[in-house]
Amino acid sequence: MSETLQSAAPAIWSKARHHPYERAPLDPERGEPVKSMNDISRDPSTADVIALRGVNLSLGRGAARVHILRNIDVNIGRGEAVSLLGPSGSGKSTLLMVMTGLERPDSGSVMVAGEQLQDLDEDQLARFRGRNVGIVFQAFHLIPTMTALENVAVPLELAGARDAIERARRELAAVGLAARIHHYPAELSGGEQQRVAVARALAPNPAIVVADEPTGNLDEATGSEVIELLFRGHSERGTTLVLVTHDTALAARCDRVLQMRSGWLEHRVGAIETP
Ligand code: ADP
Ligand code: MG
Repeated sequence: MSETLQSAAPAIWSKARHHPYERAPLDPERGEPVKSMNDISRDPSTADVIALRGVNLSLGRGAARVHILRNIDVNIGRGEAVSLLGPSGSGKSTLLMVMTGLERPDSGSVMVAGEQLQDLDEDQLARFRGRNVGIVFQAFHLIPTMTALENVAVPLELAGARDAIERARRELAAVGLAARIHHYPAELSGGEQQRVAVARALAPNPAIVVADEPTGNLDEATGSEVIELLFRGHSERGTTLVLVTHDTALAARCDRVLQMRSGWLEHRVGAIETP
């Protein structure tokens, strides 16, 4: 990655030194949570880049209505890498949608990068996403009518960068695609498309990058290249990474593992068993 991009990342995105979420034990005298380093009442704007409180979300109508997210509380610190494990249908993708402002919860509060998302209208949410969020999907989701270069330049242009094309070119070189910049998605392999998607997600130096089973459509070797690029973006730029995966070995590389079960979020502490 170029020097310019590294220096463009604000110094505040330094690696988190502690894991900010644990449920405080109850104070035996007063029956209230004990105040601690992990207490959520501390200044959230400096410690946490994501804080969800009491988030509930149901989707679908009538008998098909599903309570997808159940009373989710979670804090993620600036610069953390967090993995999200859970069976298919447990609500992982929906939780990422809420964290990125693509889905509004029925109740609860969602703070990301200092913004209370429930206070923003759709235009403000779109601007918020452009500035703060990079998303990598399982199915790549590149714009088919644009070249790799144009795909990566889009979020930079939306963020008002004057040198969007030049930066996009550097970002594509950083993911090993200097020779493919004028190719359309249909002319690229799955692994190449996902590398474009990673470049697009990282290019604006967003506060958070979420990746939803980013290797799910790739073979193992290609998938690990994509994962290395995501972790490199995380460590070099201090980008907070939220990674949905079924791979427990991969999850264990993250600072912390969260587990979804039927819409509930469990916080796992300590090492997880690897296969
Ligand atoms: P995961 O990513 O863990 O596989 P999802 O967040 O995609 O889970 O979905 C969680 C549950 O919500 C699933 O049971 C899914 O069928 C349901 N679901 C997702 N989107 C909708 C929708 N638009 N309407 C109704 N149910 C939905
Ligand atoms: Mg999913």
